[in-house]
Amino acid sequence: MQGAFAEHEAVLRRLNIEYFEIRKSQDWQQPCDGLIIPGGESTVMNKLLHTLGLFTSIQKAIMDGLPIFGTCAGMILLAKEVRGGRPCLATMDITVQRNAYGRQSGSFTTIENFQDLGPLPMTFIRAPYIEQTGKNVEILAKVNGKIIAARQANQLVTAFHPELDEEPAVHKYFLNMVQQYLQHK
Ligand code: GLN
Repeated sequence: MQGAFAEHEAVLRRLNIEYFEIRKSQDWQQPCDGLIIPGGESTVMNKLLHTLGLFTSIQKAIMDGLPIFGTCAGMILLAKEVRGGRPCLATMDITVQRNAYGRQSGSFTTIENFQDLGPLPMTFIRAPYIEQTGKNVEILAKVNGKIIAARQANQLVTAFHPELDEEPAVHKYFLNMVQQYLQHK
């Protein structure tokens, strides 16, 4: 609907993964094996999910186990609690702080460990971070002591933008989740 979807598509093309865009409720009629919610502006996407009639069906699909990958604004949309904003889909047991790095230092790139994938480049753009996680949430990465990537069962979130970096490791991690989902479906 909005935001950095083209960059995610470019990564999927490189990995030979079929994809389509969800822009209106008819698009959601097509079956899919996973959903990426890109970075962008979470307040705008929140409104669009409701006005386009996608909110309830996407929320239900996530609760039914569809693999979902939220980057930056996408992570905010999945969070149960949002400081500096409002919860949207609220399917993931995390509290996020929006625009957590302030205006001046809003955008930066760093290299940090991501679980057992090792060190990865991470680009942050007016990013949130995760302040609190529920007991079912696995912490995957931290930058300066703040949680910036996590997973709860079928839900994967990153505060940074893996679609902007050369290394498709986080997308591959998500595709693994999709593969496991398809095996157990
Ligand atoms: N600051 C944006 C928001 O609150 C997120 C920024 C991004 O997705 N790059 O929605």
